[in-house]
Amino acid sequence: MAEPVRHGAPLEPWKDPAAKPFLRVENVTKTFGKVYACDDISLDVYRGEFFALLGGSGSGKSTLLRILAGFETPDRGRVLIDGVDVTAMPPYARPVNMMFQSYALFPHMTVAQNIAFGLKQDGMAAGELRDCVQQMLELVQMPQLGNRKPDQLSGGQRQRVALARALAKQPKLLLLDEPLGALDKRLRERTQFELVNIQERVGTTFVMVTHDQEEAMTMSSRIAVMDAGRIVQVSTPAALYEYPSTRFVAEFIGGINLFEGRVLGHDADQRIARIACAAVEGGVLHARHADPLPEGTAVSVAVRPEKIDVHEAPPRADNVAVGKVRDIAYLGDVSIYHVETESGAVVRVQETHVERSSEPHYDWGETLWLSWPASGAVVLST
Ligand code: ADP
Ligand code: MG
Repeated sequence: MAEPVRHGAPLEPWKDPAAKPFLRVENVTKTFGKVYACDDISLDVYRGEFFALLGGSGSGKSTLLRILAGFETPDRGRVLIDGVDVTAMPPYARPVNMMFQSYALFPHMTVAQNIAFGLKQDGMAAGELRDCVQQMLELVQMPQLGNRKPDQLSGGQRQRVALARALAKQPKLLLLDEPLGALDKRLRERTQFELVNIQERVGTTFVMVTHDQEEAMTMSSRIAVMDAGRIVQVSTPAALYEYPSTRFVAEFIGGINLFEGRVLGHDADQRIARIACAAVEGGVLHARHADPLPEGTAVSVAVRPEKIDVHEAPPRADNVAVGKVRDIAYLGDVSIYHVETESGAVVRVQETHVERSSEPHYDWGETLWLSWPASGAVVLST
């Protein structure tokens, strides 16, 4: 999977050991009664990043974001922004703003008045205020719409006004909690790209909460996956997809096949593990691993559906499974097949349609051979 297109040099400060994080979260814990909403969270975010907190409902994303904004105080731990400890600072004293969903716009005010609201409260002079509002309107590509009321705008336009309002005060850090949650799917996809473009132009550091893995993948420089108040993995979208560190992450991020087995040993270069697994021909599955595991360790091996090649005769490959087609889903650009092996495992494979055709390639009940390289299979620790 390709990284999202970002203009200019690749933005990868986390690879530079000398780079100083812009936002540092240190051992933050927050409980509500017996619930650990945030459980000892540490995290570094760099200047200019579009960072996503991704997780299911109740995993602690909003609580962490509210701690960054200053709406919640952690029980333990610290938050530093640009080297300054802000843990005890009230929200208004922090160089931070939060973008709320579009329904938080003031309905009785025009678009321009909505954007000007915070600046006016800060006592900005009228001339400067007008210029600043106009600049913001241009940034969100609505230069002519300053006099409209929110109810005269489309959902996507309202969302852009909310963004303009949040950026007007030039925060160093912008926090977004499910910013596109109120939009329908098509508008949501378009707005995702718009939001990324605007973020690149202003260069402000963004931290966004979402439960939608596709949204996190298309928009972010890096993603922190959260589960039960903890951060499970922090990676770029591509690394998260290709090298999930746990079974939870593998299952959360996109479609995946998981094969259960036991470690038999490692090949000479120690990068490929041999795993006893009934679902593959010869009973041995070959897969990449991060660290060699002791013989006999029970593991899951993750294989993405698009890494699997489909054949109508036995191929030569690192890993081969044979089975019958049980389900076919035709999705226009791709077809998904579920192939059941004799061992009972159901393998999900994906076929991309290069040529225009109205028919899936293979039939229900047909015997197919599946193969995938060792490099396309990842051993997961848990
Ligand atoms: P997410 O945004 O990932 O859905 P939240 O941060 O909102 O998760 O919530 C994490 C956990 O903390 C949940 O179990 C939730 O019920 C609990 N929680 C959040 N805020 C409060 C609160 N103000 N009072 C009590 N429990 C809360
Ligand atoms: Mg939430």
